[in-house]
Amino acid sequence: MGFGRLTIFLASLIAVSMLAQSPAPDWAKLQDETMQHYQALLRIDTRNPPGNETVVAEYVKRVLEKEGIPAQIVGSDPKRSNVVARLKGNGKKKPLLIMGHSDVVTVDEAKWKFPPFSATRDGGYVYGRGTVDDKDNLTAALMTMLLLKRLKVPLDRDVIFLSEAGEEGSSGIGIGWMVSDRFADIDAEYCLAEGGGVVRIGGDVKYATVQTLEKIPRGIELVAHGISGHGSVPLKSNAIVHLAGAVAKVGDWRPEIRFNETTGSYFRKLASVSPPEIAKHYRDVLSTDPAVRRAADDWLLENEPRHSSMLRTSVSPNIFTGGYRSNVIPSEAKATLDVRALPDEDPAKFLEQVKRVVNDPAVDVRFTGQFARPAGPEPRLDNDVFKALEAAGTRVYNAITLPTMSTGATDMAQLRAKGVQCYGIGSATDFEDPPKGFGAHSDQERLLESELHRFVRFNWDVITNIAGAK
Ligand SMILES: [Zn+2]
Repeated sequence: MGFGRLTIFLASLIAVSMLAQSPAPDWAKLQDETMQHYQALLRIDTRNPPGNETVVAEYVKRVLEKEGIPAQIVGSDPKRSNVVARLKGNGKKKPLLIMGHSDVVTVDEAKWKFPPFSATRDGGYVYGRGTVDDKDNLTAALMTMLLLKRLKVPLDRDVIFLSEAGEEGSSGIGIGWMVSDRFADIDAEYCLAEGGGVVRIGGDVKYATVQTLEKIPRGIELVAHGISGHGSVPLKSNAIVHLAGAVAKVGDWRPEIRFNETTGSYFRKLASVSPPEIAKHYRDVLSTDPAVRRAADDWLLENEPRHSSMLRTSVSPNIFTGGYRSNVIPSEAKATLDVRALPDEDPAKFLEQVKRVVNDPAVDVRFTGQFARPAGPEPRLDNDVFKALEAAGTRVYNAITLPTMSTGATDMAQLRAKGVQCYGIGSATDFEDPPKGFGAHSDQERLLESELHRFVRFNWDVITNIAGAK
């Protein structure tokens, strides 16, 4: 950002804050309260399965109601409840939904230095399953609700809070149920949830990401059929041989590169904050010259596979089964492909492409089952909400904001399919942490205390800007 633009930007910041006139919370004083809720939530064992999210639901409801915010425990399974609460606005604008999921992935306790549900504070970090996925979001959303109420912030739109169960692989009892049975309770114009974050490298903030799209799981299986027989008499129709050939072909295949507004903007902006030798690849992959693009694609696949996946619908063969004893030729063998589709991919057409790649009549190509996540439209990147996120990224983190597309799935998929414009946010974490085994879903998980508090301030900044009366 140039100096001139910075001046204009600062002037507009002052204008915005004068407009909003929200009373400022005393952040230093709020740190104990934030930490107390965060640790309490982390100490509730909600590993999924079985989840037991109702224990979180009861805690959250108690905290909200103590502040005078009515909260409702809802759900289809009494052990796996969601919580909904609403702060009323003046109705000038449609509601904003803020949500966090209350379940966490399972743990291998032997791998943890501190017990995974102890929320131990050590060396400036808090350790525990859920510290970055997703009890930081849940805590920040909860704190924001408490503060909006406590400081009597006038609102132009309702702010709806949702603590949702089952995000980690059982969304049917969480967002799926909320959307099918209680949509009126969470119906909103905009939603903030997990999926974004702030990247620190060498301890310095480099950039912030806001998740505006995600890939959609569209699992496919390959089933090879052949003639069974005695292993001492090899057969050309051997199902395992046919399956192996088919898997090798789809494994080598790189589906067509396609950009959307989010990924185009992401790579352009990422290039602007990356060292020149790396930035070159981000610019080249956007090139219209097929040879230039191909070389960048090769580099990304080799060095930054997550970025390679963002370019296309990806296919990863992850399960291979067939045969049951060494002297029997089996009549069937099966492989399961993890397919992550670009949001605008036509599943039926993609299936036809896979069939053409396999090109073997002995191998059936079909979807693994019902689609658990629907596709939805891309939210706007030029509206007041995205601008509020960018402004908060500058104010709170002094960072540029990149829209991003997750390669994995989140509960925002169901909401986007209902027309809610969703934006994924997250606290700042060290780029170096996941390779050391401290990321979301890693052997261990941790968050810097200072980043928890900064994330609460970020939430406050964004939410008061989007929902506060102007
Ligand atoms: Zn999560």
